[in-house]
This record gives sequence, structure tokens and C-alpha cells, in this order.
Amino acid sequence: KNKLAIFPGEVDKGGIIMDLWVSEMQTADMRISCRVIKSLHSEMTPFQKLMVVDTHQFGRMLLLDNIIQTTVADEFVYHEMISHVGLNTLPNPRKVLVVGGGDGGSIREIIKHKSVEKAVLVEIDGKVIEAAKKYLPEISCALDDPRVEVLVDDGIKHVKENKNTYDMIIVDSTDPIGPAEGLFGAAFYQDVHDALTEDGIFVAQTESPFFNRELIPRIYNDVASIFPLARLFLANVPTYPGGLWTFTMGSKKHDPVKVDISKLPDLNTRFYSPEIHRTCFVLPPFVQELIKK
Ligand code: SAM
Repeated sequence: KNKLAIFPGEVDKGGIIMDLWVSEMQTADMRISCRVIKSLHSEMTPFQKLMVVDTHQFGRMLLLDNIIQTTVADEFVYHEMISHVGLNTLPNPRKVLVVGGGDGGSIREIIKHKSVEKAVLVEIDGKVIEAAKKYLPEISCALDDPRVEVLVDDGIKHVKENKNTYDMIIVDSTDPIGPAEGLFGAAFYQDVHDALTEDGIFVAQTESPFFNRELIPRIYNDVASIFPLARLFLANVPTYPGGLWTFTMGSKKHDPVKVDISKLPDLNTRFYSPEIHRTCFVLPPFVQELIKK
């Protein structure tokens, strides 16, 4: 991994740096670079390196360990899809948990649902929440809502300690390295299953079908062996490796594909829609192949 997320671009004849770029090594052989307007924040938290920069292309950007987490320009795709597909599959979701997601984007989407009485965020790194509140108000704006409870704790522990509690659990995590590693394992999915109410739903971000071709079937098979129903769905997030992104759902009872989309509420969304609710489960053959293994 490239240790320097920010590096100088062109240097003029007087040796003055003309521009700065932020760069993520998305694979060993590929990186995405965005020209930076200004670097706003950089610190080592107890868990990871946290950076906030303003970019020309995607607006404000949050990076953890030099990996793009979210940007103001494309966050809506990810946060709407990780939240509404599951919530709109349930008849009456009341209590929802987000594991990770310290930027607050998933919480902002969850509280658009009138039936939700309580949304709990369990983020391991309090510094991510602080930075999001200070630098990303468009994304973190719902974290102070009275229906929201914010806990700084390990999501793995929280899920283990709360049985039969949540109608929906969203795993809005970093990549499967560091503190998030355990969020991608069968033991965790079993605890998630047990933390859900009897018809509960679980959705996790599960990486790229181009670059995570072993991880996705492993997760899908684990979820399918624990939940009566497993489904994979897709969305396009331009700043994530390859753009095309997977989400894996485990459901105890309700099938998202059988939802009557003519009855879905208007949630004031920019990517998710009733039609997208249906089409996001239509998988190209190369993705179907992945989960047939
Ligand atoms: N949308 C993002 C992506 O896919 O790149 C994820 C964003 S969100 C900022 C991910 C959060 O998960 C990070 O803030 C990280 O600290 C948190 N996290 C990682 N492991 C965790 C754990 N075990 N418990 C709770 N939160 C965790």
C-alpha cells in the first residue's frame, strides 16, 4: 500500500508545487487519484489514519488508512442503497443498528423511515464521528436526531451482547483488514442473525465483484448457510475500486424481490427508487457465476 495518500503533482521551474493529489492504491496495480483543493485534517487515531480533503472532482472526501470512505459527490448512492433496500423490504422496521458508518450517512437515510423509533450507531473510532460532524455536515446531519443513539464501541461485541433486539442491522464497515476484519466472518454473521428479531434483515457492504472474487462468494455462502434467504445486489459508487459495488443481504423471512414496489414510500432519494429496488437484484452473468460457486 502507498503510505502517502497525498503527494505533489507538477513542480514548476522555481521548485514550487503547483498542485496536490490524493491517491488510493485500489489494487497493487491500480490507483485512483483526485486533485486536491485543500487538505483539511490529518491524524492518527488509535485505530487508523484519518484524513479529510477537499477535491475538485468529488468535493469533500474522508479517507481512512489512505482508502476513500466517502465523498460528498457520490455518498448518496452507497448510503441510500445500504439502507433503503432492506428497510423497504420490512413491513414495519422500528429498531435499526448500524455497525461502523461513523460518517453518519446510513443513519441519515434510516431516519427518513417514519416507522423507525430508534437507530443505533456503533462505531469503533470516535474520531471518525468527530471529523464527520466537523467536516461533513451534509452526511452527519442526523447524528444528533433524538431517535439516534451513538455508541463508540466495537460492533462485534455489541452484536454479541444484544440478542433478539434489532429489526435491521446494517454493516457499513471499512475493508476486511484491521478492526473490520471480524465483520466479514461467519461467527459474526451468526451473532448478527441472533441479534435480529424474528423477521429481521441484515445488509452489509461486500466490496467489488471485479477485485474481491474470493471474498464475495465466501460471504454469500456464509450468509446463505445462516439465514433462510441470501441475496446479492449492486450499485455504482464511482470512488470505490471498479465502481460496481456489491451488498449482501440475509433475511429471516421477507424476500426483497417480492416487495410490491407500487406501495413503497417516497423517501426523497437520488439513486434508490422503487424501480432500482427491483433492478438492483438483476445480476450480470459474471456476478451470478461468482455466487454459484
Ligand atoms: N462507506 C465506507 C466504505 O465502504 O468505504 C465505510 C465508511 S465507515 C466510515 C466505516 C467505519 O467502520 C469506519 O469509521 C471504521 O472505524 C468502522 N469500523 C471498522 N471496524 C469496526 C468495528 N469492529 N466496530 C465498529 N466500527 C468499525
